[in-house]
Order: sequence, then C-alpha cells, then structure tokens
Amino acid sequence: MKLGFEGKVAIVTGGGSGIGAAISRQLGAEGAEIVVADLDANAAKSVAAEIRANGGKAGDFCVDVADAGAVAELVAFAVRECGGLHLAVNNAGIEGPRKATADYPLDHWHRLIDVNLNGVFYCMKHEIAAMLKSGGGAIVNMSSILGSVALPTASAYTAAKHGVVGLTKAAAIEYARMGVRINAVGPGWIETPLLSEHSELASSRRLEALQPMGRRGRPEEVAALVCFLLSEQASFITGSYHPIDGAYTAH
Ligand code: NAP
Repeated sequence: MKLGFEGKVAIVTGGGSGIGAAISRQLGAEGAEIVVADLDANAAKSVAAEIRANGGKAGDFCVDVADAGAVAELVAFAVRECGGLHLAVNNAGIEGPRKATADYPLDHWHRLIDVNLNGVFYCMKHEIAAMLKSGGGAIVNMSSILGSVALPTASAYTAAKHGVVGLTKAAAIEYARMGVRINAVGPGWIETPLLSEHSELASSRRLEALQPMGRRGRPEEVAALVCFLLSEQASFITGSYHPIDGAYTAH
C-alpha cells in the first residue's frame, strides 16, 4: 500500500530504539523526511544514518521530551531544516520501577509522569502549532494496553498511559475541523530493549502466557499500524485509541 508520505516531514520521539526506530524506518521507506529524536543521541544518529543509507531522508536530534524548552527546539529544528511539519509520533517512554502504590518512590513517579505524559503534551503543543502553519497533519501518541487496563505495581505507568489517551481525545476534538488528526496506539507486550531489560515479568514466560496469541508483538507490527493512522488512508480516523495487543485486552 502506498501511504503517500512523499514531501511530508515527520518527527518520531524515542526514534532511536525499539518501536520508534521501526516507525522511523517504515516512514523513511515510504518517502517521509524524518527527524529521529531521542535522549540517546548516538541511537538517533544511527537510525537516521541507516534511513539515509537506504535512500531515505533523515536527520537526528537529541532531546529529553520532559524538557518543554528542548521540545520547542526540536519542533523549530524540524521546521527550519525541513521546511514544515506534517507528521509526528510521540513515542518516547520509560517503564519505571515495579512497586505498589503506597511504596511508589516520589522521584520515580514524577520522572515517569514527566516523560510519558507531560512529554506527550509538550510535543503536541508545539507540533500542532507547526502543523497548522504547514497546512495540516497527523499525530500518533504512543499509549499502551495500560492506557485501557491496569497492571498492579505499575501505577505511574498506567496513569500516564491512560492520560495519553485522554489527552489524545481532547486535542483531536479541538483540531478536528482544522486538518490535524490525532490518535493513540496501545501496544501489548512488544519485543524491544525496554521490555527485555525490564523486570521479572519480562524475563519469565508469563508475558507469552498473558497474550492470547502466545507471543510478543514485533516493533514492525506496531509501526505498520502507526503508519496507516498517519496516512491519508485513515482520513476519517481521529480521536481514537487503537490497541495492538494479540487480544490481551479482549480478556
Ligand atoms: P525502547 O526500546 O526503550 O525505546 C525508547 C526510546 O526512547 C529509547 O531510545 C530511549 O532512550 C528514548 N527515551 C527515553 N526517555 C526519553 C526522553 N525523556 N526523551 C526522549 N527520548 C527518550 O522502548 P520501546 O519498547 O520501543 O517503547 C516505545 C514506546 O512504546 C514507549 O512509550 C513505551 O511506553 C511504549 N510501549 C512499549 C511496549 C513494549 O512492550 N515494548 C508496550 C506498550 C507501550 P534511552 O535508551 O536513552 O532511555
């Protein structure tokens, strides 16, 4: 399917690894010019270089999405270097410690909400303004299955990912008549560095057992959904949350 991204400029946060890297690669292969943005500057550089080596257009930008000023600079960079902004994937996220709510450390709570929820707001605030000046656009925010159900001992992550869904819906209604579509995606357990580094849950066979399909998802499978939602093929889809979870939330 041709997704019509030629001439479009895209920002992907957390684009240096896992799901964000897969999205950056697919957008690049479909003709978009990508700004791969990540806290890990080397990872962003390496994904951008790979896209260029495959004939695509890509630059990189080191950003902490929890820093509102740095996010403003990221969007200004994309507009200045690439001539506008049409597509954005607000994907950067962290996992946080596994603790019951009463024991959840305050500093970890604040950092997780800063990155996973406030970061998405900072990105949208500047991206929407740039898209309105560029003739419209589309945004996908990375939520999770934990944007619709909860995982005990992950209250901060669950709260942030539910928050991303609410933020997506509110903003989508605001800009529905102004040419900016905004959706959220809710992956189940996906095979990425975030998960393999993480916790006794990830290292056990429990994850596979939890997902009715009996396997983890692949970053490329999430990227295909995100690219569809960004494309004109999804021109009447806005303000919605799209699980991609091998039936996890169908339980
Ligand atoms: P990943 O492989 O760890 O990639 C995330 C990338 O984001 C990393 O390069 C990371 O850099 C970067 N990052 C972290 N904090 C950042 C910040 N403050 N500013 C900018 N970049 C930052 O993770 P992933 O599994 O692909 O996850 C991507 C998104 O999908 C996250 O929002 C996650 O919550 C969500 N998600 C993942 C799963 C899953 O099963 N993997 C399921 C549902 C939802 P560092 O390496 O330097 O930290």
